[in-house]
Amino acid sequence: MLGLMQDYPLLTHTILDHAALNHGEREMVTRGVEGPVRRTSLADIRTRSLKVAKALELEGVKLGDRIGTMAWNTERHVETWFGIMGNGAIYHTLNPRLFAEQLGYIVNHAEDKIIFVDLTFVPILEALRDKFPTVRKYVVLTDAEHMPDTALPNAVAYEDWIGAVDDDFEWKSFDENTAAGLCYTSGTTGNPKGVLYSHRSNVLHGLMVNQPDVFGLKSEDVIMAVVPMFHANAWALTFAVPAAGAKMVMPGAGMDGASIYELLDSEKVNSTAAVPTVWLGLMQYLEETGKKLPYLEKVVVGGAACPPMMIRKFELDYGVEVIHGWGMTEMSPLGTTGKMKNATSHLDQEARLKLKEKQGRTPYLVEMKVVDDAGDELPRDGQSSGHLLVKGPCISKGYFRLDEKTLTDDGWFDTGDIANIDPLGYMQITDRDKDVIKSGGEWISSIDIENTAVGCEGVAEAAVIGLPHPKWTERPLLIVVRNPGSEVDAETVLAYLDGKIAKWWMPNDVVFVDEIPHTATGKIQKMDLREQFRDFEFSN
Ligand code: ADP
Repeated sequence: MLGLMQDYPLLTHTILDHAALNHGEREMVTRGVEGPVRRTSLADIRTRSLKVAKALELEGVKLGDRIGTMAWNTERHVETWFGIMGNGAIYHTLNPRLFAEQLGYIVNHAEDKIIFVDLTFVPILEALRDKFPTVRKYVVLTDAEHMPDTALPNAVAYEDWIGAVDDDFEWKSFDENTAAGLCYTSGTTGNPKGVLYSHRSNVLHGLMVNQPDVFGLKSEDVIMAVVPMFHANAWALTFAVPAAGAKMVMPGAGMDGASIYELLDSEKVNSTAAVPTVWLGLMQYLEETGKKLPYLEKVVVGGAACPPMMIRKFELDYGVEVIHGWGMTEMSPLGTTGKMKNATSHLDQEARLKLKEKQGRTPYLVEMKVVDDAGDELPRDGQSSGHLLVKGPCISKGYFRLDEKTLTDDGWFDTGDIANIDPLGYMQITDRDKDVIKSGGEWISSIDIENTAVGCEGVAEAAVIGLPHPKWTERPLLIVVRNPGSEVDAETVLAYLDGKIAKWWMPNDVVFVDEIPHTATGKIQKMDLREQFRDFEFSN
């Protein structure tokens, strides 16, 4: 027997309708790519999104067409997403940090019809334009005054383009499982793979991250979405913030410490989210200027392990709650957050800070387990590390146009991370499965060593890779980038690690480099490092 409840498909534009009706006056503030800060409201965002949908309709865009966006976090980028989805088309985020060949691959693989592009990125697309046979129009996200003289074929300024239509458009209606968004994983090997979100998964994921033990946003909040919309769905903020009716602050191209600080301060931002490297920039700025963060209450740090030193500085020096998050593009992307819970209330400050180093526990709608090489589940004892598998309605079951089995027979997705789960449900990542270091039959956690090493004075960034060793199979090599002006040496770093990590994890050597290579989403390229140090010989 079926229930007798209404058939109300979870379509993303219902979020915007709700926001405009109930929080229409709420502001969205953007640092424009052109320079000045712009202010708009959730009601205006809806009106302009309807215009985007109508203009796309006039361009002949159809259900299921892919529309590229290569843009910073701005109100215009939000409007394009909602306009595209409200027309039944699919936003396809183009990460401008991808290599040219990868960008060429994904635009052609997706067969993008139109690309919305920010002024900053026009030159990137100009260089590639001849390689994009499917793209018939470029909409530059600016007004007539700032429109560049561009070699992009059929280029038009966004404000002119939507200015030519009215908002008399009815959102299209379709099944909630209809595709809404496409985001390619950066892929360290082979071609990028497209993760295809649906309306249903975007809506559910937006609601999921608004649970109090996750981001917990409410209408009084002012949240700055620093994590880019081209990086794994902006961690759901494009959906979660309007659903809550919170004020949204968008940093545009200003991702440096000073620009971030300026908006945090002037807009009285109380919540924000980004990867650790962004927060390192902010912390450097705060230390140089002696400024504080009087309005900020919580910061979500994820995408890479949050260094313990960062947790301590935010919490103890600036009074800001750190919510450590873990996830991946295939998970929409959020998987866990490290909020405290009732069973941790007895912990003293030191123990709580330590627990926050873990990647955290799952909200309702994410299931996870850790299994051994044979696929058997390992106990939740906080010790047994294995392959981390996940399941849920916002987790991908396959890649766009790729005929490849991606789930286990019983429907679990292997994240490629190695982790353990403790009895309270807090998960800790120890490595990527392809980066684990096997020494004498045991695993060494490169992430733990890296996290600890960045606490040493003078160390700006650290990476640990395993290299072959005649006796132990593999041993860790620590690769360090020094802070500007620092002369920290190997002995000092090793002495700092001593006592903070297991003795047998101690790196056999420390080398210093000017730069560590990163992927397009800011992760350390360990494959490149292993290649670079292929012929390195340990001194012991
Ligand atoms: P994103 O960069 O949006 O997190 P990706 O799909 O590019 O998504 O990368 C996902 C991977 O990033 C995870 O599988 C994990 O290895 C790593 N990662 C994400 N968050 C964390 C975290 N808090 N700690 C450690 N690793 C993390």
